[in-house]
Amino acid sequence: MNRRGFLASTGAVLSLGVAGRRAARRPDPVVVRVWFSDAAAAHEGLEARVEGYLGAALDAAGGGVEIDFAPSPVSLPAEGGRHVLAVHWPAKVVEGAVGVGRVDPVADVNLLVTDGDPREQPAGYARPHVAAVTGAKYVARMPPAAETPSVVPYSVRAAATQLLLHEVGHALGIGHEHGSADRDGDAVVASPMVGSYLWASREVREKHVPDRNVCGGSLPGDRSTSERRLRLRYADCAVQALR
Ligand SMILES: [Zn+2]
Repeated sequence: MNRRGFLASTGAVLSLGVAGRRAARRPDPVVVRVWFSDAAAAHEGLEARVEGYLGAALDAAGGGVEIDFAPSPVSLPAEGGRHVLAVHWPAKVVEGAVGVGRVDPVADVNLLVTDGDPREQPAGYARPHVAAVTGAKYVARMPPAAETPSVVPYSVRAAATQLLLHEVGHALGIGHEHGSADRDGDAVVASPMVGSYLWASREVREKHVPDRNVCGGSLPGDRSTSERRLRLRYADCAVQALR
C-alpha cells in the first residue's frame, strides 16, 4: 500500500476527500502530524526540536515537508512499552481515520512522542503511516536543529532524536536495508535507518540490519574501537527510496 492509500482504505468519506485533494497536487510534500503524551507535552522546547530535526531530515530528502502538532496532548495508559507503542497508538489512529475518537490523522505519518525511556526496548514502533517514539525528555534537551551539525557524537539525546527519524522513515515505507554506516577517520557514523543497531551485539545486529544495504553499501567491518556518531539526515539510499 502506498502512503496515500491509507485513509482511502479505511473507507472514511471525509478522509477520502483529503486523499483526493492531495492526489491532485504535485510534487507532494510529506505531511506529518505529531501528538505528544501528557508527560511529553510538559517538556519545554520539544515541539521546536521535533519540528527542527524532522523537518531538516525530510526536507533534505526532497519534495518538502509539512509538520503540524495536534492541539492537545493525548492521555496514555503508560509512557512506553510495546502495548502503548505498537497496539494502543495505532488503534487510536485507525479509530480517528474512521471518525471515532479524538485523533484526527493525516495521510502520511501520524507520530506519537511519549516520555518513555528510550534506553528500554521497544524504544519506538512503526508501521505504514503510524509511528511512536519514546524519549521526549531527551529530544527536548537537544540544542536547536539549526545550530547542530548533521552528524553528532553518540548520546542518549542524539539517539532519541535519531529514533524520531528512524520510526518516521518506517512509517513512510523505508527499512533498515535503506540505512548506511560510514567510517570517518576514527569514527563510525550510523544513519537513521541503521541507528544504534550498528553497535548492538552481533546476534542482534545480524537479525535487524543487513550487512549490505539495497544500494550496495556495506557496514564498516571493525567498529569496536571507533568513536560512535549519529547522522541526523537520511542516507542517500533512504532518500532515493523516499522519492
Ligand atoms: Zn527499525
